[in-house]
Parts: sequence; structure tokens; C-alpha cells
Amino acid sequence: MIKNKCATPPSNVEAYKDLWIWLEQNDGELSRISLEMAGIGRRLADKYNEKLVGILLADESGEKMAQEAIEYGVDKVIFAKNQVYRHYRTRPYADMIASLIAEKKPNYFVIGATHNGRDLASRIAVRVNTGITADCTEIDIDPTKRLLEARRPAFGGAILANILCSKHRPQMASARPGIFKPVDRVIGRKGEIERVESNVREEDVTTKLLQVVTREEVDITTADVVVCGGMGLGKKEGFKMLEELAKELGGIVAASRPTVDAGWITRDRQVGQTGKTVHPKLYVAVGVSGAIQHVAGMKSSDYIISINKDAAAPIIKYSDVALIGDAYDIVPRLIESIRKGKQDLREGKITVQKKQ
Ligand SMILES: Cc1cc2nc3c(=O)[nH]c(=O)nc-3n(C[C@H](O)[C@H](O)[C@H](O)COP(=O)(O)OP(=O)(O)OC[C@H]3O[C@@H](n4cnc5c(N)ncnc54)[C@H](O)[C@@H]3O)c2cc1C
Repeated sequence: MIKNKCATPPSNVEAYKDLWIWLEQNDGELSRISLEMAGIGRRLADKYNEKLVGILLADESGEKMAQEAIEYGVDKVIFAKNQVYRHYRTRPYADMIASLIAEKKPNYFVIGATHNGRDLASRIAVRVNTGITADCTEIDIDPTKRLLEARRPAFGGAILANILCSKHRPQMASARPGIFKPVDRVIGRKGEIERVESNVREEDVTTKLLQVVTREEVDITTADVVVCGGMGLGKKEGFKMLEELAKELGGIVAASRPTVDAGWITRDRQVGQTGKTVHPKLYVAVGVSGAIQHVAGMKSSDYIISINKDAAAPIIKYSDVALIGDAYDIVPRLIESIRKGKQDLREGKITVQKKQ
């Protein structure tokens, strides 16, 4: 029998206060996820009268980033400055943040579920003997009990689980990138910066950074138009036609998971529960069935057009317009009519009158 050796929870949970977020930075620049975390943090802090605190580990470039975080809604930044923190490494980051938690006792701590964020969040949770809800898609607070309500799809997306950490502190969650919107930047916004000592030395860190290799990644999360291909394309070459359509619409090509698994397209383009979440103005789903795990990543799109042979495919019920038929028949005709429309516009045969 395995005994659960869960550490004794703190007896003074009332002493824990403030909502913390991790300000992830990359080589002296705040990452986009930090702005997203500041966005959800600000909304929760305003709604429940909490103080929003950003935790920043960086070298001297942290001064500029701390002010930037404040302009994106953070009330206070706790900034640990050390050359060692220029690039993320698990141990020195986890050591510093765990000691800050022990000293300052935050009630809530939310970390963006990036590669580094996932690594860091779980390490910290173990160090400070608390639980963590990983990869949340919704976050709220129960103000009467001061409990973090961390929600995430469970059982393959069949349910949305609301997970509480009622006894241990801080209440930790990692939050899926691309879901939470930043608040507008207010240049010159005032906040507090607390600078804390860090004595870590490079020679004490066992992991050495030898080289930074940046992989060319396509960012589908910020596109206004997304044209997504599914298994209904039948073959890798089908994506060429979608590239053309995306080009005409000024958008980007994305994909369902099985097409990525089949090697038809790269993983950075995958939409869905285990891929990325997009919220474009226009989402065109071509040969995509609309499985719940796929829909989780695109259902907040403003306008959805689907192209599918099967009028009963689940994607149809999420669509504003559904074109029922063969993608290889419909997509080339769409491309042709967009091109013709553009040509007619150029030649003044048609004009566009914008809504007043
Ligand atoms: C834990 C877990 C996580 C998952 N995460 C993801 C995820 O992040 N993203 C994701 O996409 N999936 C994910 N999946 C897989 C998901 O359940 C579905 O299997 C997948 O989304 C189906 O992909 P598809 O729509 O491309 O293919 P299919 O389900 O095979 O659908 C193909 C569609 O194309 C239509 N079609 C066929 N031929 C044509 C044609 N010539 N013209 C027009 N239409 C045609 C069919 O009618 C059908 O609707 C996950 C599954 C699990 C269990």
C-alpha cells in the first residue's frame, strides 16, 4: 500500500495574501505570456480587491521590464536581480521563488503554462508543499472562501473540472497560453518595485547554458484569419491549396492534431486542447470534424466557416456558415472568386461601402 505523505497544510491560511504571477522573460524582454498573466491577474485583482504582484527574475534589464509590467496592470513587482537569471534555468529560478514564497506568503500564484512555466510551476509546488492545477483555461476566485477556482478540461475535454486547493498555500495554477487577453498598456502607470537580494553565483549553478538556438515558430495565436486543415484533406498536398486560400484572405494556415501526427504539417500550427488556442476574426475549418478537443482551441473565433462533406459533422453546429461538399471542389472556387472580387475592386467594377 502506498501511503500519501502529503505535508501538513499551514494552520494560518488567513496570513496568506496577494495574487502573484510569474513575469516570464526571455533574454531581457518580457514574454507575451507575462502580459496575458498580467491581464487575467488585473481582472481578478479588480474584481476581488486583491493586490497583483509580479515576480521577476532577471539581470539589469529587469528594471525596464518591471516598469513595463506595471504599465500592463501589475501593482507591484518583486524583482530579484542577478546575471544568472538572464536565461531561465530550473534550479536557480525555483530556489529563489520558493524562498520568496516562504517569506512573503502569497495566497494565489499563477504561472503561464509555457515550456519554462510548466517546468517551474511544478518544481515550485513540490518545494513549497502545495498543489497545482496545470494548464487551466479559466481562472476565477471564490471571494468568500478566498479560494482559487482553477478550471481545465478533463477526461479528454468531456468535462470542465473546477479544481480547488483548499488547505495548502499558495494556491497554484498554470494557465494555458493564448487564452487570457492582456489589458491595454497605460504608459507611465505607477506601481511599486521591490528589489530583493540574490546571492546565487554562476559557479553554483550546475546547468550551463552553452548556446541559445531559436527555432522558427509560426505564431497562429495572433492571426486575424486562420485557415485550418483537417484529415478530410486526405493528403499532405491538400495544405498547398489552403496556403493559397490563406494568402488571399491575409491569414495563416493551421491544422488539426491528426494531420500534425501524420507529419503533413508542423506542430506549431496545431489548434486544440493539446495545441494552441486561437481567437481570430475569421476561422475557416476545412475537412475538420470538430471533435471537442479541437473545438476547445477555436470556439472563441468571431466568425467560423466550415467546409465539410458531412452535413452532420460536429463542426457545423459551431459554424456561422457551413459549406457542405468536397473541399477539393469548394476551396479552389473560393480562391478563384476572392481573386475575381479583388480584380473587380481594382478595376472599379465593384466598390465597397463600409458600415457607418
Ligand atoms: C487527449 C486528446 C487531446 C486531443 N487534442 C487535440 C487537439 O489539440 N487538436 C485536435 O485537432 N485534435 C485533438 N485530439 C484529437 C481529436 O479527438 C480528433 O481526433 C481530431 O480533432 C480529428 O481531426 P480531424 O477533424 O482533422 O479528422 P477527422 O475526425 O477524421 O475528420 C475529418 C473530417 O473531414 C470531413 N471530410 C472528409 N473528406 C472530406 C473532403 N474531401 N472535403 C471536405 N470534408 C471532408 C469528414 O466529414 C470529417 O468531418 C485530441 C484527442 C485526445 C484524446
